Amino acid sequence: MIFEVKPRNRYFEILAKGREGVVIFPTYVPGSYVIRELERNIVEIEGIRISKNRFYVKDNFRYLIYAVSKDQREAISTLDYIFINPPAVFPFQEINEEYCVKLDLPPNWKISTSLKKKNEMYCADNYDEFADSPIEASPYLKVLKIDDKHVVSTIDDLDVEMLRRIVSEADKILGDEDNYVFHFRRSDKELGGIEHSNSSAIVVSWDREKLATLFAHEYFHRWNVKRLIPADLKHNYEKEVYTSLLWFAEGFTDYMAVIISLRAGVLDKKDAVKYVANSLSKLTFPGAKRTSLAESSFTTWIKYYRQDENFLNSSISYYDGGLALALYVDLEMSKKGKRIDDLFKEIYHEKRIYSFDDLNRILKGKYEIDIEDLVYGSAAKILEQLKDDVNIEFTDRGKPYYGIMLKDKTIAYVEDNSPADLAGLIPGDQIIGFNGKSKLEVKDSTKLTIVREGRIKEVVVNTSPNPGHKIKVKIGKLEFEKEEGISDIEII
Ligand SMILES: [Zn+2]
Repeated sequence: MIFEVKPRNRYFEILAKGREGVVIFPTYVPGSYVIRELERNIVEIEGIRISKNRFYVKDNFRYLIYAVSKDQREAISTLDYIFINPPAVFPFQEINEEYCVKLDLPPNWKISTSLKKKNEMYCADNYDEFADSPIEASPYLKVLKIDDKHVVSTIDDLDVEMLRRIVSEADKILGDEDNYVFHFRRSDKELGGIEHSNSSAIVVSWDREKLATLFAHEYFHRWNVKRLIPADLKHNYEKEVYTSLLWFAEGFTDYMAVIISLRAGVLDKKDAVKYVANSLSKLTFPGAKRTSLAESSFTTWIKYYRQDENFLNSSISYYDGGLALALYVDLEMSKKGKRIDDLFKEIYHEKRIYSFDDLNRILKGKYEIDIEDLVYGSAAKILEQLKDDVNIEFTDRGKPYYGIMLKDKTIAYVEDNSPADLAGLIPGDQIIGFNGKSKLEVKDSTKLTIVREGRIKEVVVNTSPNPGHKIKVKIGKLEFEKEEGISDIEII
């Protein structure tokens, strides 16, 4: 198919050329496990609607698509900047045919994409490759050279030397690949990044200073998940695909991002240990006792990507749990004179599509590391397992607590079976009075005045000993050396 795109403010006008028949608009974007219903942005289309995202069309048809999302997984069109993540804008017919896009832009605009240039068009051999190649354009676009193969495409500024070091360290692990583009933009939102085979798109807020682990994470994905692929992760652009391996695809990638950034000298050791401490502290919550890493990966569509105020009671992030497991694996491998890098090298050179059994076979067979129970059992066990090698101190354990997290004066989280839970407090309750005091003091039998749904209530809450959520970590080896880090989490 060919798409001729005419951007205008807030919309893309598109003339699509294909065959008469059914076209399918993706409902989500690979790598981001939530049904976004991107097809909701179609405001006009020459065709007969068959379902929410399928249309019967003639060989040529026009459509108009609304585009003002700042999200790097979607698309935006303004009078001086466009960004397109293709699944958010373009439908497909056959996956295995060529897809090309032609952009109708003023001559002073610059275009950046990892699609192949073909005359006046940018093309991919099939829809998977096309959907995996964002397009960015603006008269203000700068293409900053990192080295011969890597560039940053941005309308802002970025520390290219930091990226040069990250790329150089990451490339040492699984080798060099084709050309690569980091699409980078500052925004009024903190949106993070998304990985592609030969690029990544990263959008962060203006006040975010530390970017190393985010860039290292997205860059390491060009191998882990893009070229080293979970066997059960089979693309389907219309409905959920289930994998139980996101703890490896995402959590291990997050761990590698920390290690690569440390080796590259672009991440402070103290910040690195704090990063680990923040992940480990999540394993102290009820959700980690109830859920396994495999389960949390499976439920990403309804839990991780649709996190509500009860997430810490109901699930565990496979990023946090996966990072903790990766640390365990790295520590165990280091006892045998190897590093986690060797696991990646072995699995990558043995087979590009892997299952849990493949990982377990290598870890068990070569290194006597058995992770089956840590992946399929309660995720909280990983923390127990780490205690032999990592110094973990619970700095709030035993202190009187209610079991709530506050955002300003509003309850953001209630821990299951905590005194706050037993006293009847729920998330969203706004605390307006603390036993006649101006500040909340955690002590037994406090009478709280709260507002719930506009009604004022008084609730007496007792305390119990804090089970321990805030943790101080000292790993004492690997790249972390002797630095200590304390998790940020505040639960009272
Ligand atoms: Zn990721």
